[in-house]
Formats: sequence, C-alpha cells, structure tokens
Amino acid sequence: MTEPEQDKPKKLYKDRYTKIDKRTIEAVRNAILTQRFYKQDNSNKKQIITELFNRLNAIYNTQATLRIDENNNNMYMMTGGGMYNPSNNTIHLFKLSLITFLHEFKHALLKAKGKKQSEIQARGYSISLFYKASERHYNRAVRKGLIFHEKP
Ligand SMILES: [Zn+2]
Repeated sequence: MTEPEQDKPKKLYKDRYTKIDKRTIEAVRNAILTQRFYKQDNSNKKQIITELFNRLNAIYNTQATLRIDENNNNMYMMTGGGMYNPSNNTIHLFKLSLITFLHEFKHALLKAKGKKQSEIQARGYSISLFYKASERHYNRAVRKGLIFHEKP
C-alpha cells in the first residue's frame, strides 16, 4: 500500500540502513546460504521463513504473528505479496519471498517501537538487510528484476 511520504531519500535502498543488528543479518544469511532458500520447494521455503520469523521475533520481542497463505491469489494481487495489520500485529504473506517478508517484518518492528508506519523505511530496511546478508543474491535479484524498489 502506498501513502504520501515526507522524506525524499536520495540513497539506493540497499544503503539506507547501516546499523542492522548482526544477529539479524546472520539469521537472513543463514536462510539464504545455509538453508539454501532459493533452491527449496514451497513447503521448505515456508518452513525457512517461519523459522526466520521466530528468530527475528525473539531478537526484537515484536510479539507479532505470521500467517502465510501462498495460494490466495486475490490477496496476492491486491497487496503485491504481503501486508501488515497493526491492529492485531499480524504479518500476512501471500508469496514465499524473503524480501517481502522482511518488508512486512519492518512494519511490525515500527509498531513494536511505537513509531509511525513508513513504506520508505520498510523498503530501506528489507533491501539493506537482504544486501548485507548476501551481496551476491542481492545482485542476482536486481538482475532478475525481483527488487521493485532498488532506487528511490
Ligand atoms: Zn509496506
């Protein structure tokens, strides 16, 4: 969902967050490189995202809930793949995408910290974190056109 934003970022999204918790970067790197997320079938991808969610939830004590429904095409079309509902602190994923998951997780983090929601911050956080976890996979995703918000 889009809203008018006040701030006008000039940096690429991958360079917007420079001080992400090392444990968080390690958890995402583990999903990509050790658990080989991109080589897995949907059932394993779902498992890997769920484990990553549990890990991040524990690091930040966000107390959010994750609901994954990768077969709901209507919601996929309506949301672009994911949404966060602040009224019940629930992340909904309609595609098995790490970057989308990290984007929605940032919305949960903003809520946990009592900050106002921001699309630009959610993009910056998810893309910076993915880039730090694996520069090689970030570059590959850019080449494949999978990073929708590479540039501001
Ligand atoms: Zn968002």
